Order: sequence, then structure tokens, then C-alpha cells
Amino acid sequence: MTYTSLQSTIQKKYPYSLRIAHLYGNLMNTYGDNGNVLMMKYVAEKLGVYVTVDIVSIDDNFDDNAYHLVFFGGGQDYEQSIVAKDLPKKRTTLKRYIQNNGVILAICGGFQLLGQYYIQANGEKINGTGIMKHYTLNQENNRYIGDIKIHNEEFDETYYGFENHQGRTFLSDEEKPLGKVIYGNGNNGKDSEEGVHYKNVFGSYFHGPILSRNANLAYRLVTTALKNKYGNNIQLASYETVLSSETPEEYEDVKSKAEFQ
Ligand code: GLN
Repeated sequence: MTYTSLQSTIQKKYPYSLRIAHLYGNLMNTYGDNGNVLMMKYVAEKLGVYVTVDIVSIDDNFDDNAYHLVFFGGGQDYEQSIVAKDLPKKRTTLKRYIQNNGVILAICGGFQLLGQYYIQANGEKINGTGIMKHYTLNQENNRYIGDIKIHNEEFDETYYGFENHQGRTFLSDEEKPLGKVIYGNGNNGKDSEEGVHYKNVFGSYFHGPILSRNANLAYRLVTTALKNKYGNNIQLASYETVLSSETPEEYEDVKSKAEFQ
């Protein structure tokens, strides 16, 4: 059953609202990936957004009209094989969400499962959604583990992270990488590409979690979701303001009330 795992404290002071689906949040949650949801909520609240986070898991319907942001975290092969069996039930609405420019952050196992298939460390193949066309092979007695830095040319942004995966992912022609590898292994250790960027889907192997180490990406995801919901003309605080300021003045009393709860 879908349930709310996190919610902003006081509703009426926030001019905007966003609802986040944390896909399989009770299963796909390795290496602190849940921190990405906390970071989405933190940045969104700074922008004046009331945030609700729902865990949408096994047997739950994914209602694409109800959500403005989706987070799909990493997992071990065992959890991934359970999730893979459930994904066909969500495929139609997930596909529509992606085609309608819905914003998704998918990390590691989640990134793999949005693609065609993933070959587990034991050689068994599990199917992904097939909505995106990348695929993931295994490797013999090796994992890619360590610090990694990439650069996204389109946004001229640099992202830092820590990768830990055995899968080797290969992108399709319709997909761009999230960035070019400056150091580290990236998707497969060969083509110097890391992650994926397709429409408003952002995939990566970065744990850490990626958004708390890369507030620029967090800001991009949240503001894209807000523009999807409220239109491109929405007036939002700049990235610099969000980073540097305390809670914006108009939400000060929200902050002080929240602290005493
Ligand atoms: N089990 C997958 C792999 O090893 C994904 C790992 C993860 O999500 N951290 O490649």
C-alpha cells in the first residue's frame, strides 16, 4: 500500500507544493540513497514548496498524474530481482510519466532497471522496464568502486560522487550521458560516459548521495518539476540564493515553528 513517508511541517505558508514518489523506497535504498529524497525536500522547501513523499512499492499502482518528482534508488541484486517482477505492473504509467517530461532521478539499480535488462553478478538476466533503451552487463569478479567526477557539457556543471556497482551499462543512441568522466569508471569503464540524461530522466551510479554532494543537480531537478507543474514563468529564487540564504524571509515563522515541534 502506498504510504506517506515524509511531509513538510506546516502547509499554509508554502506557495507551491510537490509530491514525490519514492519508488520501491523500502527495498531500493543502498548506500544512503534515501538522502536524495531529503535533499529534494530541503531544496524544495527553500523554494517555498510544501513537499509530500510517498513510498510506492510492490503491488502499488504508480499514478503518473499524482507525482511531480520520482526517486528510484539503488539496490543489491536480490532486491532488484524482486522489484523487476513488479515493474511490468507500473510500466504503462511510468512510460507515460517519462514521455510527458516527468522528472526522475534514478540511481544505480534504479538506473539499471529503467533500461532493457540487467545481468546480475551470478549471470542471471533480469528485465528492466524497457522504457529506456540502455542495457547492463555483468563483469567477472570485479566491481567499480571509488570516487568519481564528471562534467555535463550541456549544463556546464560538474558532479562529484562515489560509485559502487558491478553492472556495466551501455547507453542507446537516443540517450545522452549525465556527464563525461573526468576520473573514475563511469557506466562501463570503457566509453568515459557516466549516467544517463533522457528527457527529464537523470540516471547515475553516484551514491553519496548524489544530490547532497551536488546541490546544482538538486536545484535543477526541483525547479524542472516546478516548471512542469506551474509553467515556465514561475518566479523562483536563484540557485545562489537557495544555497547561500537561510530560510527565505517570508517563511521565517514557518522555520521557527518547525524547530519547536
Ligand atoms: N546490484 C547492482 C550492481 O551491483 C546495483 C548496485 C547498486 O544499486 N548500488 O551493479
